[in-house]
Amino acid sequence: MRIDIITIFPGMFRTVLNESIIKRAQEKSKVKINLYNLRDYTFDKHRKVDDRPFGGGSGMVMSPEPIFRAVEAIKVNLKPKECKNSKTILLCPQGKRLDQEIAKRLSKEKHLILICGHYEGVDERVRKFLVDEEISIGDYVLTGGELPAMVLVDAVVRLIPGVLGDKNSLNFESFKDNLLEYPQYTRPANFRGMRVPRILLSGDHKKIEAWRKKEALKRTKQRRPDLLKD
Ligand code: SAM
Repeated sequence: MRIDIITIFPGMFRTVLNESIIKRAQEKSKVKINLYNLRDYTFDKHRKVDDRPFGGGSGMVMSPEPIFRAVEAIKVNLKPKECKNSKTILLCPQGKRLDQEIAKRLSKEKHLILICGHYEGVDERVRKFLVDEEISIGDYVLTGGELPAMVLVDAVVRLIPGVLGDKNSLNFESFKDNLLEYPQYTRPANFRGMRVPRILLSGDHKKIEAWRKKEALKRTKQRRPDLLKD
């Protein structure tokens, strides 16, 4: 997979993309992530990416020209088939709310272009005529699309086959089969008098599996009954 990120703050990504699983995924060539500074696609000497909103109002709006030019510059070297397989996503609080299903779907894509907005957001023509999809990471407003893009990249990249060392991690985790994960324990079995459930020490794998299923269901009913409605 290839992920191209268009942002006015490329520096924000460097730590996140160069640590842990995302770093290893790039080293293993499971994903190639490129950063594009939106200011490189401006014409004026101030490298201006925003302007005042038509009709008045507070704040600034990101101009369409640099964003269109950045996406076009990324696509210009793609073969027609690669272009068809490329999905342009605007990070936006008004978009579809990111969940595990969306992350799974996007992890099967070949090429994602992520656009990070700022200020009051982007000119409406970007939404209407350039992007394929708008994605939100939750019902709150952040200052920019960089953190949402990082969240999206993390959620998607870990689902690319071969990225996680143990592929079973994906089979038993929250949101799989609409359940939250069962409680997890590690050593010591007795920590300051707080004991691990005896069943987990029994070595009886069938019983452990049944206990985990029961606990996952109980936890989901308590915390996220909405997941069980589907
Ligand atoms: N004025 C916009 C509105 O009310 O819908 C909010 C703009 S926000 C301050 C600036 C940028 O941050 C957005 O263009 C978007 O890229 C990003 N952003 C903010 N909150 C977000 C969220 N919950 N999910 C995804 N992106 C978000």
